[in-house]
Amino acid sequence: MNFSSKLLENAVAEFAKLPGVGQKTALRLVLHLLNQDRDDVHKFSAAMTTLRNEIQFCKICHNISDQHVCEICSAPKRDQSLICVVEDTRDVMAIENTSQYNGVYHVLGGLISPMDGIGPSDLQVDTLVERLATAEVKEVIFALSATMEGDTTIFYLHKKLKHFNISISTIARGIAFGGELEYVDEITLGRSIATRVPYENSLSR
Ligand SMILES: [Zn+2]
Repeated sequence: MNFSSKLLENAVAEFAKLPGVGQKTALRLVLHLLNQDRDDVHKFSAAMTTLRNEIQFCKICHNISDQHVCEICSAPKRDQSLICVVEDTRDVMAIENTSQYNGVYHVLGGLISPMDGIGPSDLQVDTLVERLATAEVKEVIFALSATMEGDTTIFYLHKKLKHFNISISTIARGIAFGGELEYVDEITLGRSIATRVPYENSLSR
């Protein structure tokens, strides 16, 4: 692409780094911003900078949060004895949207993937074990995608957690998931949490 301006080229190059955004889309977005008021463009860039500088990760569940402890972990109505283990914040949002779950979460920050060089030490595994050791947890629900990486991660975590006196279950995975939880519709996801099965049973099927 030939640009008439270096400033334009730089801005397009930054947008084109975003996932799913090619050069043409990046150019369209940048030209759109150029047509906006200066104040609006300033608000846009300030929101991104503030987000990056001030965002925190909940020190209990590692969900993205504005405070040290997220709103879910600190809500008195949530059942702290029930922990749903998910890959990332998008899964927390998807499950929250079902309004079917009243426990708390543990965000791993990824899945075990030897192909990509991601091992257990890259994930929030130790803090999950610590939570089980110190808190009154009765059940852990694995809500990970039905992929090789999801299965590997559940298998690993189950070995780490099975000596605790807790129930370990997985969300019903007979339903087609399409890989990632965030793409499952709310009714299906809500039902799969309600009809979760003990992990041991899910292996023998
Ligand atoms: Zn939290």
